[in-house]
Amino acid sequence: MSFELSQDQRDLRDGARELADSFGDDYWAEKDRQGEFPWEFYNAFAEGGWLGIAIPEQYGGGGLGVTEAAVLLQQVAESGAGMNGCSTMHLTIFGLNTVVKHGSEALREEVLPGAVDGSLHVCFGVTEPDAGTDTTRIRTFAKKVDGGYRVNGRKVWITKAGQSTKMVLIARTTPRDQVDKPTDGMTLFLADIDDDAVSVEPIPKMGRNAVQSYEVVFDDLFVPDSARVGDEGKGFRYLLDGLNPERILLAHEALGIGRAAMRNAVEYAGERVVFDRPIGKNQGIAFPLAECQTRLDAAELMARHAASRYDRGLSCGREANMAKWLCADAGFHAADQAIQTLGGMGYAKEYNVERYFRESRILRLAPVSQEMVMNYVANHVLGLPKSY
Ligand SMILES: Cc1cc2nc3c(=O)[nH]c(=O)nc-3n(C[C@H](O)[C@H](O)[C@H](O)COP(=O)(O)OP(=O)(O)OC[C@H]3O[C@@H](n4cnc5c(N)ncnc54)[C@H](O)[C@@H]3O)c2cc1C
Repeated sequence: MSFELSQDQRDLRDGARELADSFGDDYWAEKDRQGEFPWEFYNAFAEGGWLGIAIPEQYGGGGLGVTEAAVLLQQVAESGAGMNGCSTMHLTIFGLNTVVKHGSEALREEVLPGAVDGSLHVCFGVTEPDAGTDTTRIRTFAKKVDGGYRVNGRKVWITKAGQSTKMVLIARTTPRDQVDKPTDGMTLFLADIDDDAVSVEPIPKMGRNAVQSYEVVFDDLFVPDSARVGDEGKGFRYLLDGLNPERILLAHEALGIGRAAMRNAVEYAGERVVFDRPIGKNQGIAFPLAECQTRLDAAELMARHAASRYDRGLSCGREANMAKWLCADAGFHAADQAIQTLGGMGYAKEYNVERYFRESRILRLAPVSQEMVMNYVANHVLGLPKSY
C-alpha cells in the first residue's frame, strides 16, 4: 500500500508551503509574545481560497478530502507557524463537517459559503469544567421553548471563542438520569455567539498564545430550531462522526511541529562547534535526532493511512486514534530533543524551538488525551474490558 502523494496533492502541498513560508518564525514569535491573533496570516489563507478546501463544491469549497486538508495543515505547522497557525483555520477547514453531514440544507447554505471565504469564524464547544473527558456529564442545558431552545451553562478551553460568531455546541436536552444510555439526550447546535447572552474570558496558558482559548458562559442564550444540527438527542453520535477526521488533522499538525523542530536542530547540530567539531558529529547528539526522524516518518505513515481510509469511506477509528497518539508523541519528542540539541540556546526564545516545544505539548492533551487513546485501543482494538 502506498501513501505517496499524487501530483495534485504535491502541488497543493507546495502551494500551501510557499504561502505559509512567507510568514516565518519571526512573525510567529512576535505574535506568540504579544498574544495577538495572526489576522494577516489568516486573511492570506482566506484570500488564497485555502479555507474551503474540504467543503463541498456546491457551497463554493474545494470538495477535497481529509488527506488534502491534512497536507495543508501539516505544511502550515512545518513552516514554523505550528499550532498558532493551524488553530486559526483548523475549525473552519473541518469543524463544520458535522453540519455538512447532519445539518439541514438551509443551515448548510447559510454558513458554508462564509466558511469558504473566511468571513465566518466558528469554534467548537464540547469541554466543560465539571465533565472533563466524560462528555456524558456535561451540564450545559438547552431547554425547549417556542421556536427554539434556551441555553444555560459553561464551557471551558473553547479555542477562538473570542474571534468567532458561531459555535458548534453540544448541550443536554434531556437530563442524564432520564435517558436509556448516557450518550443519548445530547443535541448539537450551530449557535450564534450573542454578546448579550454569552460571555467569554481568555484562559492564560503555556503556549499557542496567538490563538486564545476561552471559558464561555451561556446566560439564557436563545438558539432557534433552525440552528439545531440533525435530530434532537442524537448530538453525541454526530460528534463521534467528526472525531476521527479531527484526530487525523491534529496528527498531521503534530508531525509538522516535529519536523520544524528537527529542521532547526539538524541545522544547529551541523554548525555549532564545540571541542573543535560540530556537535552533530557526536553520536550522543546525532542518534537521538536520527531516532526522532525515524519516529516521525513511521508516525506519518499511520497518519496517511488513517486519512486514506477516511477518504475511502472505510472505518478508521483504530488508525485515527493510533495516528494521533504516534504523531503527538513523535512531535513532542522531536521538539524536546531539539531543545537538548541547542543546549542553553534551546531554552532561548530566539531559536524558536522552545515555542515548538510548548505547542507540541498541547497535542498530548487535546483534542483527546494520550490516555484516552490508549483506552480506545485497549477496548476497541484489543477487546479488553472498559475501566470506566
Ligand atoms: C490548548 C487547548 C485547546 C483546547 N481547545 C478546545 C476546544 O476548542 N473545544 C473544546 O471543547 N475543548 C478544547 N480543549 C479541551 C481538551 O479537549 C481537553 O482538555 C481534553 O479533552 C482533556 O479533558 P480535560 O482537560 O477535561 O481532562 P480530564 O478529563 O479532567 O482528565 C485529566 C487527566 O486524567 C486523564 N484521565 C481521565 N479519565 C481517564 C481514564 N478513564 N483513564 C485514563 N486517564 C484518564 C486524562 O487523560 C487527563 O490526562 C482544549 C484544550 C487545550 C489545552
